[in-house]
Formats: sequence, C-alpha cells, structure tokens
Amino acid sequence: MINYLYQEQNWQTQLSQLITDPHELLDILQLPPEQLLSGAILASAEFKLRVPRAFVAKMQKGNPLDPLLLQVLPHHLELEEHTGFVTDPLGEEAANQLAGVLHKYKSRFLLTLTGACAVHCRYCFRRHFPYQENLPKNEDWLPIKNYLLQHPEINEVILSGGDPLTLSNRKLAVWIERLESLEQIKILRIHSRVPIVIPERIDEELTYLLKNSRLRVILVVHANHAAELDDTTCTKLSTLIQAQVLVLNQSVLLKGVNDSAEVLVELSQRLFEAGVLPYYLHVLDKVKGAHHFDLSANVTNQIYTDLLANLPGYLVPKLVREIAGEKNKTPLYGAVTF
Ligand code: SF4
Repeated sequence: MINYLYQEQNWQTQLSQLITDPHELLDILQLPPEQLLSGAILASAEFKLRVPRAFVAKMQKGNPLDPLLLQVLPHHLELEEHTGFVTDPLGEEAANQLAGVLHKYKSRFLLTLTGACAVHCRYCFRRHFPYQENLPKNEDWLPIKNYLLQHPEINEVILSGGDPLTLSNRKLAVWIERLESLEQIKILRIHSRVPIVIPERIDEELTYLLKNSRLRVILVVHANHAAELDDTTCTKLSTLIQAQVLVLNQSVLLKGVNDSAEVLVELSQRLFEAGVLPYYLHVLDKVKGAHHFDLSANVTNQIYTDLLANLPGYLVPKLVREIAGEKNKTPLYGAVTF
C-alpha cells in the first residue's frame, strides 16, 4: 500500500510540506478531534504546530498518548500560567552580545543563523525567543569576527537553534568557511533535531562539507525516545560517523514522553546501535507553556538512579540543568534541589 503520509523525498521538499494544521495531524493519526482539536488550535496560535511528515510516520495511529505526538501536538495546558515558568528561563537575552550571538560559556560561542526549526517541540526553552531581531546578516560577519578575535579563549563555535540544518548547504558552507578562516577556532559543533525528524537532511553534500572541514565537527542531535530512531535515521547518522563526525545525542526528560528508566535505557541502547553516544539528559527548562511536562525532583532522581543501575556508564547521559548566568551546565544527580 502506498504510504500517502510520507514517501522518501529530498529534504527541501519535506521542509516545504510540514504539517501545520492540527486538524490534518489528528486526521492522519486517526484520532477523534473532539477532545484534542480545540486546545490544539488555541495553543497553536501562540506557538505554531510544525512537524515533518517523516516524523509523523513514526507515530502510532490511534494513540493520543504516543510519546512522539505528545512532543509536537499543541495542548490547552500550554495556555496555563504557572509560577516560575517564564518566557526566557535561561536569561539568554542578557547573553545576546551581537545579532545571532550568545556567549555564555568561556571557550564556546553560540551562533544562531536561523530562527526556523523543522519541528516545533512544545517544551522548547526558546519558544519565545525573539529570533527575528537576532539573525546575523552577511554584513554582521565582521563584528562577529572582531568579537572572536577579542576573545582568543573561544575555540569552539556552536551552531544552534533555530535549527542550523534547516539552512541550505550553500549557506552553511559560507559560514563554516568564515569560521575556518580564524586560526583560534578548532571545533565546530552543530545542534540539530533535523536529522531525527527529516533524516534525508544528511545528504551527500552535507556529508562532504563536514568531512572536509578543517574543524573537528561534532553533531549533537536531539532524540527523546527510541521510537524516533528508525532504520533510515540510524543509517543516515552512521553515514556521518563514517565521515569522522562525532555524533552525540541530547534529550529532555519529559513527563508522559520518556519519564521511566525503561524508556531511557531503550533510547541509549538504540543510539549505541547507531554509533551515537548519549550526552545530556536535561531536566525541563521552566519555560512558559511547558509546565505539563515537568517532573518533581524525587521522580527525576528515582528515574536516574534506575538508569545508572541498568546501563554501563558510557551509555548514561549526564543529568543536567542549565541555570541562567552559570559558567557551565549544572550536574544534578545526587544534589537535586530544583
Ligand atoms: S528543534 Fe530545538 S530549537 Fe527547534 S523547537 Fe525543537 S527544541 Fe526548540
């Protein structure tokens, strides 16, 4: 039978055909609209539904609690106000030095080249970030370059979200070449969820570009559940690993999605099969609209204790929280007071 939802297409076509209408998403997943649709439409007005068809194809039809669906379907609970849940939980506007630049940590420098993402994750800590005022244009390279030269301690540039892999290979190549021209920059890190939600993004051109860079390239993908890692995704990630790219994964601990050691063990094992190492397990950043994904400190500690007991150390991601103004991510296990 033809899968009318998703057939392998090039990634640009997939990006141009994202699902943005909650009604269409529920229809494809054969879910009755009565309970979910009105909340989804209301919440989508604040932070739009956006999901690739390839990702929807990994969801279970007829299951309103599918862990992949819960990450992307707008929910009326997002509209509730909760004390401590704010629009800029990591204080990033204060760390915003120049257009597109966040300098939070000593040797690392974060560049946001686009505000666009292939998927809108409902728990995203940047869901309220004012990207449009912050995107660097070509003429901004000079001040960025000068900033880097004035900070010789920076040796790593992180391309982050919005999602840098929504950009064309040509545009990426221009920015990578600029960074390569500075001797002090040794490492290029790319944070992206695109390889998980549109695996075809790892095309020959991108692989060639990353393989032939002077910089040591690290790709940090973002998967929260083993069901996100189907065979196509794992094969594409392996292509990059064979091209000498170090591929790591970061996850967010989310109520209803991956809040059990069993689910996280399966995720780590699946990542390892694909040659990817678990890197971080973030506790939820307290962003406005994401309260319903939050877990208590006790539950979090219990899950992590069970994870440690069930995996070899190299498959256990570091449990961390990012605290505004801190010089590094804060390890949490054993001292959880959040
Ligand atoms: S892909 Fe990353 S930056 Fe974009 S919405 Fe999801 S978590 Fe946020």
